[in-house]
Amino acid sequence: MTEYSNAPFDSLFFPLLEELESKHLRRSLRLLETPQGPSVSLAGKNLLNFSSNDYLGLATAPELLASFQDAAATYGVGSGASRLISGTLPPHAELETTLASFKKTEAALAFSCGYATALGTIPAIVQQNDVVILDKLSHACLVDGSRLSGASLRVFPHNDTEKLESHLRWAREKFPSARILVITESVFSMDGDLSPLKEIADIKDRYGAWLMVDEAHGIGVVGKEGRGLVDALDLGERVEIQMGTLGKALGSAGGYIAGSRTLIDWLINRCRSFIFSTSPPPASAAASTAALRLLQSPQGIARVRSLHENLAALSRLCPSRIPAPPPSAILPILLGKEETALAATAKLAEEGFFVPAVRFPTVPKNSARLRLTVTASHSHQHLADLAAALNRIL
Ligand SMILES: *Cc1c(COP(=O)(O)O)cnc(C)c1O
Repeated sequence: MTEYSNAPFDSLFFPLLEELESKHLRRSLRLLETPQGPSVSLAGKNLLNFSSNDYLGLATAPELLASFQDAAATYGVGSGASRLISGTLPPHAELETTLASFKKTEAALAFSCGYATALGTIPAIVQQNDVVILDKLSHACLVDGSRLSGASLRVFPHNDTEKLESHLRWAREKFPSARILVITESVFSMDGDLSPLKEIADIKDRYGAWLMVDEAHGIGVVGKEGRGLVDALDLGERVEIQMGTLGKALGSAGGYIAGSRTLIDWLINRCRSFIFSTSPPPASAAASTAALRLLQSPQGIARVRSLHENLAALSRLCPSRIPAPPPSAILPILLGKEETALAATAKLAEEGFFVPAVRFPTVPKNSARLRLTVTASHSHQHLADLAAALNRIL
């Protein structure tokens, strides 16, 4: 024993948890006893579910389930090693070919989750002496990946392209030989709005910078076949790094990068979260491939269409709270104080609706909100019931 030591573990962290509780910021896990779907059982209570990112209902689609089961029967449950050792199985290769074709890029690389995708990819591309310029509302994994890279970090106010341009000007003057990477999302995860991607692409081209776009909430949602905002705006040739997750609208699990063959080959050689991690279960990869095929079929197109019909219907029912038409499947209702948002969630649960409250540090302090998500699987009655409850409670 040395003279000095850490405080006993629990005696330090227990009071910190109590402090979070007193500020209405403590979080805890609740058990969802049913699959993803429009109605769920949460901690023993049946609720209409407006919390899921399974926007197209693919998490329980028979086509995905069959592909998952076939791949598990053929290749087993786990993949046994990292991709570079012995963990590249046919479903991984097939997923990447399908992804590249869906994203209209030369190549694609699949990861175990979106978070790990960003955490490994950004530091593989920029380092110390380089510059990352990030939208203020970027997801935690984009922020963490940028920090991990050691590059100088500049943040521009949400969707503020003037400020983005002034950061670019600063970076080019101060670090003439640096690589500059601009990072944004296509659909913002807690606000549901879109980024002005065309304008951002124009600006970054003027300064010879690269652009990385996270389509976590764009894939499966934006564009007729859900190919995302980059494709909808025909910017594929100008976005060097396209990222997304396979775990939200695609109903499965994993993350991806799509881009040039050179980008993907570089990541295979330098992306630490890819190299030093066991490859995703082959069955998950097979389910993701099935999701991408389904999106390009009449059934997939119909699912994307009914998602947007549901969104438009809800905005007609709640015109003062929801924009018409909503740009994405994420509909935030800003309430401000943490306890106000928690109380609204509790009241809605009493009435049979699951609409989660989102608080600091996911969103800034005092901008707590209800984050409600609509899916293709909701019926018009579900939406009408929700609208009536929102209008009663808020
Ligand atoms: C959910 C999310 C991620 C992480 O993806 P996972 O596959 O869930 O790890 C990345 N970016 C954004 C914007 C997200 O919303």
